[in-house]
Order: sequence, then C-alpha cells, then structure tokens
Amino acid sequence: MSRERLYLFDTTLRDGAQTNGVDFTLRDKLDIATMLADLGIDYVEGGYPGANPTDTELFSEERNFDTTFTAFGMTRRPGRSTSNDPGLAALLEARADAICFVAKSWDYHVRVALETTLEENLASIRDSVRAAKARVGEVLLDCEHFFDGYKANPAYALACAKAAYEEGARWVVLCDTNGGTLPHEVEAIVGEVVKHVPGDRLAIHAHNDTEQAVANSLAAVRAGVRQIQGALNGLGERCGNANLVSIIPTLKLKPEFSERFDIAVSDDKLQKLVHVSHALDEMLNRAPNRHAPYVGESAFATKAGIHASAILKDPSTYEHVAPDSVGNRRRLLVSDQGGRSNLLAELNRIGIAADKDDPRLTRLLDAVKEREALGYAYEAASASFELLARRMLGKVPSFFDVEKFDVNIERRINAKGERVTVTLAVVRVKVGDDSLISAAEGNGPVNALDLALRKDLGKYQTYISGLELSDYRVRILNAGTGTGAVTRVLIESEDENGDHWTTVGVSPNIIDASFEALMDSIVYKLIKAGAPA
Ligand SMILES: [Zn+2]
Repeated sequence: MSRERLYLFDTTLRDGAQTNGVDFTLRDKLDIATMLADLGIDYVEGGYPGANPTDTELFSEERNFDTTFTAFGMTRRPGRSTSNDPGLAALLEARADAICFVAKSWDYHVRVALETTLEENLASIRDSVRAAKARVGEVLLDCEHFFDGYKANPAYALACAKAAYEEGARWVVLCDTNGGTLPHEVEAIVGEVVKHVPGDRLAIHAHNDTEQAVANSLAAVRAGVRQIQGALNGLGERCGNANLVSIIPTLKLKPEFSERFDIAVSDDKLQKLVHVSHALDEMLNRAPNRHAPYVGESAFATKAGIHASAILKDPSTYEHVAPDSVGNRRRLLVSDQGGRSNLLAELNRIGIAADKDDPRLTRLLDAVKEREALGYAYEAASASFELLARRMLGKVPSFFDVEKFDVNIERRINAKGERVTVTLAVVRVKVGDDSLISAAEGNGPVNALDLALRKDLGKYQTYISGLELSDYRVRILNAGTGTGAVTRVLIESEDENGDHWTTVGVSPNIIDASFEALMDSIVYKLIKAGAPA
C-alpha cells in the first residue's frame, strides 16, 4: 500500500490562547512557533490579526518560520463586500503564508447568530476564500459547528464545505466546536462528507468536551480526513483542543497509523516530545501533568514490585511503547509497595553501585518504608530518595550546617493605612570555619526562608546561583486530627540547565517541613554540580 501524507496543524497560539488563565506575550508566541516548526508541525496558527495588539504585531512583519504560518479571522460580514470590511482587510494584510477563515455551517446559527440568509452565508464563504487566495498561498476554511450543523441540516453543512472547496480552499476544516460529538458519529459523518469533498482536502478540529478529542481526530483520519488540528498539551477553551502531544506519538508508534501515514515529525524529533510539552508548561508557569499519556512523569512508572521485576526482564511486558521513543523514561517507583528489584533498578539509574546482597540495601528499604509511613512520598520526590540512598549507602559530604533560623511574621497597618503582612527570615549557616548570617524578606515564611538560605552559602554560592523554586505543594496528612496533623511539603526546583527535581519534607510544623525540603534541594544541587566537600 502506498503511504499517504497526514498534515498537522497547531492552534496552540490561537485556540489554545483562549484557555482560561493563558496569556501569551509576543515573545512567547515567537518562541512557541519556532518550537512547533522545529518539531515538524506543518501549519502553525499564530493568532487573529486585528483582534488584539499582540496578534496584530505578530503578523505585522515577515516571520519566516519553517512552517506554514497561518493567520485566523472571520469571513466577510453579511451584507458587506470584501473590499468594504475592515476586519477582513486586517486579515488580508497579515504577513502570513496561509489564511484560515471561520464560517458558520449550522443553518440555525446562520439565521439566529448571524441574522442573515443561508445563501448570503454561502456567498460570504466563496467571496472570502477568493479574496484570500489572491493574497496568500493557501486558504483554509473552518466550518464552525460542522458536526452539530450536519446533524440538524446535512445538506446545508455540506453546501458550506463544498462552497469553500469549489472556490479553491486548500483545506475544509470540519470543526466540532462544542466538542460533544462522539467518535462513531465523527467517523460516520466524515464518511459521508468525503463523498463530496476529497479527504486530502479535509481537516478535523476536535474539542475535548467528552474527553475524546484525540479519539475523534483519529476516527476522522480513519474515515478519510488528512489534516489534524490540535494544540500542545491539549490547550484550548473549556476542556481544550485535541492534544497533539498525544496524537503525534500515536500516529508515529501505532501500526494502524504508522504503516499507512507519514507525518513531518521525524523519529528524532519525536524524542523531543517530553521536552516540548514541558517547555510549554514552563512558559505558562504550570506544573506538568504527571499523568499525561506518553510524556507525563508517571506515564511509564511502575509501583508494584512484581511488575517491576517483570519489567526488568522484558520492558514490553508492562509498556505499550518504548518510553525513550518520546523522550520519556521508565520509572520504577521506590515505595512501600516496591521490592528490592525496584530499589536496585532505581539505584542503578542514578548511578549508585550496589550489590543485591548488600545488607545496607535492606536497611535502605526499611528506612524508605518507615519514612513513607511517616508521610514522606519518595515516588514523587526522587531527589530526596537519592539523597537518602546516598546517605545510607555512600557518602553525602557535609557541605554546610544551618545552625539556626528564625522566621518572623508581622501583620500591621502601614503608614498609608493599609493592612500588610511582612515576613523576615534570618538564617545562620556554618560553611567550613565561616559563620554566615543572612536575612531576607519574602511574601511568606517559606519564600523568606528560601531567599535567606540561598543568599549566602559562601564558597558554594556559585553552585546554587541558578537554582530556583518552581513549584511548592503542601498536603496535610491525617486530616481530621486538626492542627495536630502532619504536613508534607513537596518542592520542585529547577536550575540553569532546565533540569527539574523534587524534594520532600515532613513535619507537624509547615516551616520545618518546608525547610527540610529546601535543604534537600540545595544539597542535591551541590552534589549534581560536583561541588567539593
Ligand atoms: Zn476550536
């Protein structure tokens, strides 16, 4: 069978930008577009020129990304000509390789929302596609509400698709705008549409409102569609768009698709997928979803000891694809359910040589179990596990000693009559023979303590200058016992190389728990950086 080309269209910067709490700057947009082009995404939809200053600026000059850089906007308004519609004019002036229009294809919406006739809407589609074709290489037309529209009035939904196709649109995009269509419906409806518009001119744009946007996209491909639209990490309005980070490896690694289709993402680039997914989270200042398929930290994690020993013999026993194919890795969780084989494999991975009959291994396993019973969570905090293992099996240098710390919180009315809370932390550290005292103000006790602790570590300061706290999570354990409960703090840190690690602290006192996790993070970084004792 001859292989067919499938095209990928990313709308992270347009539809994804409509996600609650997401606000891309121009710099973000340029960086993300570069990253997407580098990954091998055929089309990158940059935004909606004329709709906001960032997008207008984005399309104000030639960007030369290695992708078909696409501008989005509306077809001409009803009752206007293409030469007398300022919105359309802004779109036509955009410096883009392609223009993607959105048009209504549900008769009800045409009459009620657009307040125009069905024929005028078709004329608007034809006129707009024609005008754009005169300006750019490729034109796409999003048929908004296509699936709901098709269910209500198949002839009219098809007429909209055909109008765009016959006018020369490169792609007619079938949108499941409300995201409620199910995979079998998508497959059946697309099966009808391909009788009128060839599949290699059709795209699918699925939303995730029934958590089946990926399945809907694949169903559409099975029925003949040859372009998939989606967003990185499934970003997008409401429940999001189809997640390209799940779609890409499925197309590359699952034989039903990989044997029939080529995409422009190479095997090498596929191995960058974890990085790409996390880079976006980084930009959005979000903690990555640990349970994300393919790229999540837990995607290839195994907890139970019996699974772990099978995995060590043959990884395919409990893994649907090889973790490194997407740049992920196998994680054998060290936890109270895990056995010696998990522990040995994890020690091996972090480069600690241990003999399986070493009695210290039993002591380490017991220590892990005891500490997890107290509330430590080593599977979430592998850096703290590594330190514990090094302390018990090898050697962790005593880099420095915190002799004393003091955190003071003052809530008062300031000179302007406003209520303010000021936190000051003072830390006394002994590094070698030097006794150093640092003080810092923070927006809270942990922040102040963190700043004071990292302010002056004497000869170790250069090793930790790139260290930053990227996430801080607090969990109260034994809930129900009120203030007598134990607090678990997980701290995620990152450094100048973009490496991330998580440490844990447990104490009845939240400051103590945080301090323990902060200390682990700093010591971990010093070991990683090869700081001398
Ligand atoms: Zn959408």
